[in-house]
Amino acid sequence: MTDLIDRLRALQRRDLPVHGGRTLAYVYDSGDPEVDRVAREAVAAYAASNALDPTAFPSLLQMENELVGFACGLVDAPPSAVGTVTSGGTESILLAVQAARDSRPEVLRPRMVLPATAHAAFHKAAHYFGVEPVLVPVGPDFRADPRAMAEAIDDRTVLVVASAPSYAHGVVDPVTEIAAAAAARGVRCHVDACIGGWVLPYAARLGREVPPWSFSVEGVTSLSVDTHKYAYAPKGTSVLLHRDAALRKPQLFASAAWPGYTMLNATTQSTRSGGPVAGTWAVVQHLGDAGYLDLAGRAFAAVDAIVGCLGREPALQLVAPPDSTLVTFSTDGSCDPFTVTDELVSRGWYVQPQLSHGDGGPSVHLSVSAGTLPHVDDFAAVLHASVAAAQAAGPVAVDPGVVAFIEALDPTALGDDDFDGLLAASGLVGASADGDLELPTRMAEVNAMLDVASPAMREALLVAFLDRLQRPVR
Ligand SMILES: *Cc1c(COP(=O)(O)O)cnc(C)c1O
Repeated sequence: MTDLIDRLRALQRRDLPVHGGRTLAYVYDSGDPEVDRVAREAVAAYAASNALDPTAFPSLLQMENELVGFACGLVDAPPSAVGTVTSGGTESILLAVQAARDSRPEVLRPRMVLPATAHAAFHKAAHYFGVEPVLVPVGPDFRADPRAMAEAIDDRTVLVVASAPSYAHGVVDPVTEIAAAAAARGVRCHVDACIGGWVLPYAARLGREVPPWSFSVEGVTSLSVDTHKYAYAPKGTSVLLHRDAALRKPQLFASAAWPGYTMLNATTQSTRSGGPVAGTWAVVQHLGDAGYLDLAGRAFAAVDAIVGCLGREPALQLVAPPDSTLVTFSTDGSCDPFTVTDELVSRGWYVQPQLSHGDGGPSVHLSVSAGTLPHVDDFAAVLHASVAAAQAAGPVAVDPGVVAFIEALDPTALGDDDFDGLLAASGLVGASADGDLELPTRMAEVNAMLDVASPAMREALLVAFLDRLQRPVR
């Protein structure tokens, strides 16, 4: 048993650290070991419990209702509001889109109006549920253009979306105007506050300027907020709220069309681990309102410090002044953003590269959490060294032959062998001496290659990559 746990720990050493405040994507670190201890114990205690049946596991129902109640208070939900604990932001968004679609059965070819900056989860929902995404270009400040959004609404529109904030640029869309335009046409409006919903209320209380984004805005019909982000809960929970029970109704599913128990679900899952629910409940109880106010203060102090660091690096530019805890920067011609990323990563700071999109060039994304604050001086030094190293390294060499090849190809016309060749040429997969798949460690060349590829080609290449990664180990 201890041997097994040792092996587990050894495996885990290959992963990004989830503590230490230096992993600025995927994980959110409170910096408080007590939060992790509380979460671990609660997850372990409920790992085998099944939230499928609230009558069989009433404690999980109670925890969910208390979590939804806490979230209601944060996002100015009216007394009529109801909510559901889901497995994450993507599931909350999937359900918001599904409920919107099914609330309008008379619309044969439903559409949803999205700012171009909306999270990819909406594209996944479009793909799963057959709702056509109508993408509306954003303004020069990366915020949704409310007039263009209003003009995009038509008789087939079942949902209009705004972000608070958007993941890629960290800015809050003009929710008031967007929700009003949706309401004027009798259309639902979802606010994606997956990453901002648990910090923006505290930002306002800390005296920071926060544009309106919550249920306080008339016309907002649903809102998602991820507890496994800035509630610092263990992975596997988000909350989806609807302004009233009637709006949620199409989300609920029952089936008596089989010989087993009558299935009754509020989410896409049926058997649902009690672990994440209990872990989230325990962390929220432990921290409480005062704890979150303190953690938000730390996260925003870290954001301000990082924005200050960027200001001292002439080679770097803030893409947009952050409305929340997300910081995005780009580079000038003196260094390559993907090389800066690799240099930061090699010095222990994980940051996330973002490829060019539309008229926007490549950038680097940072999700800043409270646990980052004690390390901002280290960040400043590492950032400075990373920029200098990237400048010394010069531009990324992309094989022009491969670029021309990738640019000319139609991904839909490619076969498996073509993808094997392309994956090897792009550096995404190599083979080690024993024939095993080997992951790249420096990503700049791979990212530079993907950056010149069309979105369709990026998708096809990465799908082929994932297919090669997920192979059984026998
Ligand atoms: C994280 C995020 C999502 C998706 O959430 P997952 O928990 O990764 O499924 C959706 N929208 C925004 C703005 C996010 O930051």
